[in-house]
Amino acid sequence: MTTESPLSTARSQLRGAIDQLGLPENAWHTLSTPRRILQVAVPLRRDNGDIEMYNGYRVQYSTTRGPSKGGVRYHPDVDLDETIALAMLMTWKCALTNLPYGGAKGGIAVDPATLSDRENERLTRRYTSEILPIIGPERDIPAPDVGTDERNMAWMMDTYSVNAGFSVPGVVTGKPIVLGGSLGRTSATGDGVAIATREALRVRGINIEGATVAIQGFGKVGYWAAVALENMGMKVVAISDVNGGVKGFPSVAKLWEHFQLHQNLDFPGADRLTNEELLHLDVDVLIPAALADSISEKTGLGIKAKIVVEGANGPTTPSGDAILRDKGILVVPDILANSGGVIVSYFEWVQDKQNYFWSAEEVKGNLSSIMMKAFKEVEETAAKKLVTWRESALMIGVGRVAEAHRLRGLYP
Ligand code: GLU
Repeated sequence: MTTESPLSTARSQLRGAIDQLGLPENAWHTLSTPRRILQVAVPLRRDNGDIEMYNGYRVQYSTTRGPSKGGVRYHPDVDLDETIALAMLMTWKCALTNLPYGGAKGGIAVDPATLSDRENERLTRRYTSEILPIIGPERDIPAPDVGTDERNMAWMMDTYSVNAGFSVPGVVTGKPIVLGGSLGRTSATGDGVAIATREALRVRGINIEGATVAIQGFGKVGYWAAVALENMGMKVVAISDVNGGVKGFPSVAKLWEHFQLHQNLDFPGADRLTNEELLHLDVDVLIPAALADSISEKTGLGIKAKIVVEGANGPTTPSGDAILRDKGILVVPDILANSGGVIVSYFEWVQDKQNYFWSAEEVKGNLSSIMMKAFKEVEETAAKKLVTWRESALMIGVGRVAEAHRLRGLYP
């Protein structure tokens, strides 16, 4: 029996891409090894005076194509293996979208819901100061991920800047606008998921107007994707959070209003369903936009959607993926579908470097053109090499990093 974990999934995807590209075994050695790993203890003084210790991580998986780039996750399940897996995915994602970055990920094993705002700030500042020697606008640029947001980025930017002695907005992306954030960054991942969904529908010949969509997850990705999909004319029929799903709500905006007010999805008059029932709805598009491994050997069989668009990172295990392939379901893989976030992070970093800020239209237009280019490349390579879209996306991403390695050569 194979044990499936985000790291084993990521490693088997890399193995597959290397084999399909026909790269030498040396490529596996260089590409399967994270370049720098920092594990830190993060002490926190709770509001009541107690001191607690948390494990924090920063993994710089690759710096071959540029500074490493990737989010910071606050979640109780964060550990070193998961952080390595997510940093690996960031590497292929940045290469696939042709951003001049390597890949990184960081995080703290903590449930942010258990922290007061002040505690969250102290934890974030201490974590930042622990990883400070290895981050910076030219080295490694953190950003939000599950459990972190623009407030965390503001504290990280401030901690770094105070230590530098001057303001360094380019050290993180996903900042508030007034601190050098970019217009459109908050909704970027969801906007990109919607672009990927629209294009996948086109490829499958399904009418966009009225196409039905179920979304697992109502966080930064799921919510903004739902808004953008509705604006494009699709019908979001079901949404879930960690506690389960809901269908039969009048609109995403109304459900969001209720969710903000009551912190639950018990919308009056709507039907509740389990997360598994949501995955198995008879819809045109299923968007897993929560955590890893939600489409597995166990849940894969019941999926009826024609298209799966991966809003989350690593939501499908290899055995889940095999089931989707056998069923002929078109899967838009995570490194393409959710790349909108890091693409607009790149725009933010460019704007910070130049101290020149773009309009919302410019951001949206440039996001769309980068995503459409990557989408077309994935579609064409899949058709040419007779592989799935995931295999195609990985071949492009991994191939670019391998080529950069080859051209740079090995020092000494
Ligand atoms: N955390 C996001 C991701 O997984 C964004 C990373 C970034 O903006 O650097 O793609």
